[in-house]
Amino acid sequence: MAEMKKAFVIGHPIAHSRSPKIHGHWLKAYGIAGSYEAIDVMPGDLPAFLSAFGENGFNGGNVTIPHKEAVFAVVKRRDAAAEQIGAINTLWTEDGELRGGNTDAHGFAANLDEYAPGWAGNGPAVVLGAGGAARAIIHALKERGVSDIRIVNRTKARAVELRDQFGAGVSAHGSEATDELNADAGLLINTTALGMHGNEGLPADPAGLPAHAIVTDIVYVPLETPLLAAARRRGLKTVNGLGMLLHQAVPVFERWFGRRPEVTPELRDLVVADLGASH
Ligand code: NAP
Repeated sequence: MAEMKKAFVIGHPIAHSRSPKIHGHWLKAYGIAGSYEAIDVMPGDLPAFLSAFGENGFNGGNVTIPHKEAVFAVVKRRDAAAEQIGAINTLWTEDGELRGGNTDAHGFAANLDEYAPGWAGNGPAVVLGAGGAARAIIHALKERGVSDIRIVNRTKARAVELRDQFGAGVSAHGSEATDELNADAGLLINTTALGMHGNEGLPADPAGLPAHAIVTDIVYVPLETPLLAAARRRGLKTVNGLGMLLHQAVPVFERWFGRRPEVTPELRDLVVADLGASH
């Protein structure tokens, strides 16, 4: 029998994570002898967990809130995306050494590739928010050659920090500039928590966007956020955030389990049903 491969996702809290559903589905679908389990790790227990996971039989794992930045500081060998984003969402060992990477930018771009092909050539991008997710998205936009990236944040200083880090082609603005920046934008991306279940609200008004603009939200509970609903009513192309979650898991699964998995309608249905069951 093939050796059993084991992976984890660590976070605190961790019960909300959909990753066990996603990886569990692929393990079953491809008949791979493996497991993927959610482990609640308190911040104080993180160093001990990291130094022992190999001995405990794990091949690697995912890292989620609140550990992504703390793990970045501990892991010295990181992939280029993690380096730029300043956070790690995937861990593995190679040559006996701990390595880390970040697949959130890949997930974001792959989702748009699937639902809005050609998106990167659609014009200036307005990024709402300047937190951890915004960093991954700005990295993806730059990788795909978007040359005018406008970061808008309630706290302008955080947008300025990101602009300074990402450099050429990136500008920083306070929320009051949103409508003006939207007027000739080709892509509007919400990376703030606004619009999430329990935090209803519109992070921007899509009314002033050009007719060819694409609107995407990385919040995926609910699947259609108030922003996406308003954009759809205006007749704009919209893409929800579920695909980002599903696609960020693809290179991760391939790394640990040796097979590139597919994001299928069946997997989507499974995760959507799970989201629906949670509230
Ligand atoms: P974060 O680092 O805490 O950043 C939150 C951002 O939202 C900040 O820019 C913050 O502005 C802004 N914000 C929060 N509440 C706001 C409000 N009431 N009005 C205006 N702006 C507000 O969070 P994050 O890690 O970037 O995650 C953001 C969202 O993305 C979460 O909902 C998360 O679930 C989602 N996400 C989805 C995926 C996916 O795969 N689809 C992946 C990662 C994250 P200030 O700087 O002014 O506080």
